Amino acid sequence: MRSSRHFDFIIAGAGAAGLSLVWKILAWEELQGRSILLVDRLLKPVRDKTWCFWDDRHVPFDDLIHHTWKTLEVRFRDVNFSQELEAYRYHCVRSDDYSGKILDLARRSTRVTMLEADIEGFAFESGSAVMHTSDGPFTAGQIFQSALRPPGFNKLKLDLSLLQHFAGWHIRTSDPVFDPGTATFMDFNVPQKDGVTFVYVLPFSQRDALVEYTLFSPEVISDDAYRKGLEEYIERRFGLPADAYAIEYTEKGVIPMEDRRYPARYCRNVWNMGTMGGLTKPSTGYTFTRIQQHTTAIAAALARGKNPPANIMSPYRFRVYDMLLLFNLHRDPETAVTIFHELFRKNRFDRILQFLEENTRFDQDLRIMASVPWRPFFRAIYHMKHRILTGA
Ligand SMILES: Cc1cc2nc3c(=O)[nH]c(=O)nc-3n(C[C@H](O)[C@H](O)[C@H](O)COP(=O)(O)OP(=O)(O)OC[C@H]3O[C@@H](n4cnc5c(N)ncnc54)[C@H](O)[C@@H]3O)c2cc1C
Repeated sequence: MRSSRHFDFIIAGAGAAGLSLVWKILAWEELQGRSILLVDRLLKPVRDKTWCFWDDRHVPFDDLIHHTWKTLEVRFRDVNFSQELEAYRYHCVRSDDYSGKILDLARRSTRVTMLEADIEGFAFESGSAVMHTSDGPFTAGQIFQSALRPPGFNKLKLDLSLLQHFAGWHIRTSDPVFDPGTATFMDFNVPQKDGVTFVYVLPFSQRDALVEYTLFSPEVISDDAYRKGLEEYIERRFGLPADAYAIEYTEKGVIPMEDRRYPARYCRNVWNMGTMGGLTKPSTGYTFTRIQQHTTAIAAALARGKNPPANIMSPYRFRVYDMLLLFNLHRDPETAVTIFHELFRKNRFDRILQFLEENTRFDQDLRIMASVPWRPFFRAIYHMKHRILTGA
């Protein structure tokens, strides 16, 4: 029996993961006719994130791509490395464009019910998955959630925990100072006193760019420190004092970079997705592409009448690489910058992106590893051996 509080699927959380899954379920032919409840505190498009990712294929939502770069550069004190990408392109999507399109599709679909409410918890009761909200309980065959930490989160094994935290300004200048064909992936020409620190520059035209001051460190810094970092960088690199540009938009974020192994399920028939599913790559913070892959795998499984994938972790060897790099980012920021220097000096950028996407073969991994200083990695293996020997 179907009541107005029971659905085939509940999608709890309408951020990158929840929206991507709604879109895919609506598009999948075998899933036509299934009812969906989409829940979030706020179901309106908000510009609060700029999602960047790389791809070597046709991107399914290419009409939503705000800008694409063919050339990436990485800058160090003594040298800059710049390369035109061969197979890959670096893209960015604005969260308001992405959520605007998918929320509109959902609103126009007779299969989707939308609810603005606080999600309070999940359970499996009397044969159904249950979501408790400020609006009461709702049940479904399966729930996909990206809103709450899985139970027992604080007890999951954790040796390395860093934050990737940043503040970004979208600035507009009156003079043409940016090259919209080249994104600065990492510029390490900034003080390294609070952890590995770099600036990320995404120019959208000659006169406007998103500039993000980013750190990998255990603690966030004050708003004033981000502001100072951004002002000094923009003045030094582009010759622009604070009164020479307008700040059109600001973005702030904290992304966990840690070796915790997240469970695939919250409880029976309730599946974790997105950041709450541990999809953030521990050594880089990139999550968006992994969310796309995971939500596609969920929709494909549902279309075949199967359960979603029970294992969403990266393959073992990539978990070990992430752990070793994370160890160095955590323990020795100065050495970590040297590792990045050698990595970008000695490898084609396409191969680095392929490696970070976990699409390389083992022999290619070995060549990448041989290009960076090996001593810090041996030290990391020694310190992390208890994790490496127990499945990472
Ligand atoms: C500013 C920023 C920029 C980023 N840029 C990139 C990038 O360039 N590339 C990349 O790969 N990754 C990036 N990330 C990391 C990651 O891709 C994003 O965090 C992404 O949004 C994660 O998707 P998600 O669905 O897991 O979480 P979210 O997008 O945060 O969605 C979670 C949703 O759940 C809702 N919610 C939470 N709790 C409750 C509750 N109790 N009740 C009701 N609703 C609730 C929230 O309102 C939210 O809409 C960025 C992260 C941030 C913070």
